[in-house]
Amino acid sequence: MLDTSTDTTWCQFIEFIQTRCSSAEFENWIAPIQFMSATPEEVTLEVPNIFVQEYLLENFKETLAHFLPLKHTGEPAIRFLIAAPKREMAETDAVEEVVDEPRTLAPEMKLNPLYTFDLFIEGPANQFVKSAAVGVAASPGKSYNPLFIHGGVGLGKTHLLHSIGHYLREHHKNLRVQLITTESFIIDIVDALRNKSIDKMKRFYRNLDVLLVDDIQFLQNRLNFEEEFCNTFEALINQNKQIVITCDKPPGQLKLSERMVARMEWGLVAHMGVPDLETRVAIIKQKSESRGFNIPNQIAFFMAEHIYNNVRQIEGAINRLCAHSRLMAEELNQEIVERILSEMFQMNSSRGKVSVEGILKGVATVFEVRISEIKGESRHKEIALARQVAMYLAKELIDDSLMKIAASFGGKTHSTLIHAWKKIADAIQVNDTLRRQVQMIKRNIDS
Ligand code: ADP
Ligand code: MG
Repeated sequence: MLDTSTDTTWCQFIEFIQTRCSSAEFENWIAPIQFMSATPEEVTLEVPNIFVQEYLLENFKETLAHFLPLKHTGEPAIRFLIAAPKREMAETDAVEEVVDEPRTLAPEMKLNPLYTFDLFIEGPANQFVKSAAVGVAASPGKSYNPLFIHGGVGLGKTHLLHSIGHYLREHHKNLRVQLITTESFIIDIVDALRNKSIDKMKRFYRNLDVLLVDDIQFLQNRLNFEEEFCNTFEALINQNKQIVITCDKPPGQLKLSERMVARMEWGLVAHMGVPDLETRVAIIKQKSESRGFNIPNQIAFFMAEHIYNNVRQIEGAINRLCAHSRLMAEELNQEIVERILSEMFQMNSSRGKVSVEGILKGVATVFEVRISEIKGESRHKEIALARQVAMYLAKELIDDSLMKIAASFGGKTHSTLIHAWKKIADAIQVNDTLRRQVQMIKRNIDS
């Protein structure tokens, strides 16, 4: 395994890894690592920042262990040095006139190497928003502007935003692109005010060709920042510069000024839905395979049935399963999976209160009907059942007056609610499938 010239084995590791990750991943995370020195006991590597170190260990610890010396714990023996930050470009080095400041103000756009279009799994719930994102990336400023992507937590909004960033970096090298979280935009402003460089900062943002903004909901209740953002927004849009925004809710539900909301509705507002069962299975298969871990179809289906409103949660479950099967060297079976998932859900259920919206979402997913249908009047058998289950869960889980709860189902009366509750309470005594469906929704409810 290890010969004395660890320098060579490090090179072998690099060669090996290169065949195992995408070129973007390699460029971003592996290439910046510098081999410094080695003894038979330990290798010293220099990394540009702690994230690269974490990334390396998180993803390649086992592989590293095959190439490098080991600690007595069996972990690869690596000493990490964090590289001293590079000196910012001196004033005199800046040749280009218009864009001299941005280079120093804005660090390289940091993109998660795994958030690419290629690794984004499509299904009916996210196909539209993905193709809008691809369209924008292919011809920024020329199709939908702004593109506003909204949807629940952990459904891939940030993933798509970074994918646009990767695509632009690769295919439109000359464009000035910046990806920011709303928080980092605010921090930038605060810093700029403190350093009296606010004009510089404004110029930087207004000179961009593409601005990608994650989580705009954090602009709510930040009045001064909202105004600055709105000005930047208008300056860019007026020059046909592309803006893409993600948010956890549609523009109309944001507590922002009318002016701001109207601006966000100018272009295309696209909803990122919850992936359906097949898509979730595909995601589980892909995510586990990329971790070098094979989850049998049956288990993947079982997981996909139980975790349905958040892809991040699916990843959490895969990580737990991976860790478990590595530690225990057991064959995965449904029982183990069930235990691990129920541990996970127990942790989640201690959070916040349940809302009617959360229940509707859960019921809609499990019964494969629309929320609007549940709230509507249809007497179609499946819809009526879904509606009754939702009412049952609302009465069970929400501590509010029955009248109020009933009203939130599209203005039903409280006797309808009680009737539904009674019907389902009886049905789950005798109907196993229904009981399991109800339990599944209960455990998954988005509070
Ligand atoms: P959001 O920003 O909507 O809260 P993220 O983009 O952070 O969600 O996604 C959460 C995790 O789920 C990420 O690791 C992302 O890669 C993954 N993910 C979400 N949707 C998909 C998808 N359709 N295909 C592959 N991975 C996905
Ligand atoms: Mg996000």
